[in-house]
Amino acid sequence: MVIIERKFVLKDRLKNAVYPERCPYCTRVVHLGELFCDKCAKEFTDITYHTYARGGHLTVSAVPYTDIFAQGIKRFKFDRGQQYSYQLARIMAEAIAKEYKNECFDYITYVPLHPKKFEERGYNQSELLAKDLSRILGIPTEKALKKTRNNQPQHSIKKASEREKNVKGVYKLSDKSIAENKRILLIDDIITTGNTLGECAKVLYEGKAQCVLCATFAIAVTKTT
Ligand SMILES: [Zn+2]
Repeated sequence: MVIIERKFVLKDRLKNAVYPERCPYCTRVVHLGELFCDKCAKEFTDITYHTYARGGHLTVSAVPYTDIFAQGIKRFKFDRGQQYSYQLARIMAEAIAKEYKNECFDYITYVPLHPKKFEERGYNQSELLAKDLSRILGIPTEKALKKTRNNQPQHSIKKASEREKNVKGVYKLSDKSIAENKRILLIDDIITTGNTLGECAKVLYEGKAQCVLCATFAIAVTKTT
C-alpha cells in the first residue's frame, strides 16, 4: 500500500493565506500541509494499536484516545471541524499502510450516520476520514452501509450489555450485492467497546464480503470512555 502525498495548487495557498491551517489538537496555526504543530508532535509515536471489534474483527488504530487526541477528535466531530479530516486521515494512513501492507482492498467504507444525525451535524466524520484515506491510499470508497434506526449515541451508555443491544440491527447494506466477494476496509473515528464496528462488519459478512478489516483514528484506553 502506497501513501500518495498531497499536492498544493495556487488555490490552496490563497485559501491558506486567509484561513490558515491549524493543528487539530491545540488549534495553533501550522504551515500548509503540516499534520500537527511542533508542540503536539511530541505526543506521536510509531506505535500502532491493535484490538478486535466484537465478533473478532481486527482493528488498527493510530493513537490512544487520551489528552490531545481526545481534544482533536472532539473538535473534528462536534465542533464543525471538518477541515481537520485530512490531518487525522494522514496519520491513520500511516498505521493502515504499515499494518495492512499486504492487503489489497477493493474499497474503503465507513460507519454511517442516521440521516437525522447527519442533518444535525452537517457531516459524517467517518465518511470524511474514509474519503481522505481514499485519496491518500488510492483505494476507492463505497457507501456500503446505511443506518436505519436513530439509536442513542454509544458513548452515552455505560453498561456493556446495553451498548451491545443498542447497535443490534441498526445497520443494513446499501445494496444487497455491494459487499459480495469484496475485501473491505471499514473506517470509524474511534473504537471503544467495538460493538459498532463489530455490527457493521457482521452486516458486510452477511452480504458475503470476503474480508473485512477495520481501522480507526483512536482507540479508547478504558471501556467507558
Ligand atoms: Zn498542536
